[in-house]
Amino acid sequence: MRQSQLFTRTRRDAPKDEEAKNAQLLIRAGFVHKEMAGVYTYLPLGLRVLNNIVQIIREEMNAIGGQEMVLTALQDKKLWEKTDRWDDKKVDNWFKTEFKSGGETGLGITHEEPITRVMSEHIASYRDLPVYAYQFQNKFRNELRAKSGIMRGKEFLMKDLYSFAKNEEEHQVFFEKAREAYKTVFARMGIGDRTYVTFASGGMFSAFSEEFQTVSDAGEDTIFVDEEKKIAVNKEVLTDENLATLGLERGNLVEKKSIEAGNIFTLGTRFSEPLGLTYMAEDGTKQPVVMGSYGIGPTRLMGIIAELFSDEKGLVWPEAVAPFQYHLVSLAGTDAGITSIADELYAELTLKGISVLYDDRDARAGEKFADSDLMGMPYRIVVGRDALATGEYELVHRATGEVSKVSKEDILKR
Ligand code: ATP
Ligand code: MG
Repeated sequence: MRQSQLFTRTRRDAPKDEEAKNAQLLIRAGFVHKEMAGVYTYLPLGLRVLNNIVQIIREEMNAIGGQEMVLTALQDKKLWEKTDRWDDKKVDNWFKTEFKSGGETGLGITHEEPITRVMSEHIASYRDLPVYAYQFQNKFRNELRAKSGIMRGKEFLMKDLYSFAKNEEEHQVFFEKAREAYKTVFARMGIGDRTYVTFASGGMFSAFSEEFQTVSDAGEDTIFVDEEKKIAVNKEVLTDENLATLGLERGNLVEKKSIEAGNIFTLGTRFSEPLGLTYMAEDGTKQPVVMGSYGIGPTRLMGIIAELFSDEKGLVWPEAVAPFQYHLVSLAGTDAGITSIADELYAELTLKGISVLYDDRDARAGEKFADSDLMGMPYRIVVGRDALATGEYELVHRATGEVSKVSKEDILKR
């Protein structure tokens, strides 16, 4: 993409009411736009990052047998009343509204209820199980706290997978596969080493739910990490009894601030029973389906990555999620010779399928470098007078600041 054609502009300052580092940087770099507190628009560069995150998750969900679909955002009140999750006294973060034709609806906060109903039309016998279905969809939650930028949106993207099994054993097999798939997802995004399987509350038919907590000072959660075992316990369940159950010792745990990147839940028959999702077992009896749910927040992950991979100059995207791998910065000014060399390199890289943002704007070098640092592509290629005179290009690694002189052949070989 030619930067002269990119409609977004970088800016020196973030909006005054924006407290979170992730949103400050992303707004300044032109990746997101703040519409209201906790409500963000994803601009072209931001959407490229988000799509990369989504694609990594999609690949790993497909690898464990997930089938992608999309449920509705508008929710059926009657359905949620059956599980007692419609009443504001029970669930306090609904956005509700009315149909002109009469009756209420709400914007989806999560999707256990509708997916369970969908499955009841498709699952009848033990032969139909197990099934794993997932979606990427915007969720809407009337969150009170909105100080974490895109890490806590009122409208945010979630990947939610739901598993349907014949019994607890079959459920457990998938649950463990999902845990491993989640580890792979976070490793691929470069946050594997600071993301811990964390035992937390909220398990149904199991003692705990499992959260994937990423250590960050910007986090809203507190966890206690066992570095050796690479697992953690959420503060909310830190009791002597729970530590004993988990085989952990208080003395080996270190307190850390963290943010929940994902979680996996055993739901048991919490939804299948009230919604009548049953199957005919091999012995001819009718049995409730055993369910699990598995969430990850792609927009929150983008915020986590922006928080963790950034410095005083701006964003530093890991290669796996970067909007473009290379930032080709031309210092041609009005020099036709340098311009044609830069144009040619851009064309060649693009032809090879390499993603390049080409700063072909007529601007000062200092401004271009500052923008490039702020936007944070993994590598910068500078095309200046040396490229014309001696065929030397400057290659700058954004993360380390390491600079090397390379030839065009070197670049194309990479
Ligand atoms: P939290 O405790 O942080 O509010 P949660 O327990 O409500 O999270 P779930 O309802 O299980 O989270 O949602 C699944 C995933 O969706 C979370 O692990 C997180 O990555 C993401 N998520 C949840 N709430 C938000 C939000 N307000 N903004 C962005 N992402 C979110
Ligand atoms: Mg929440």
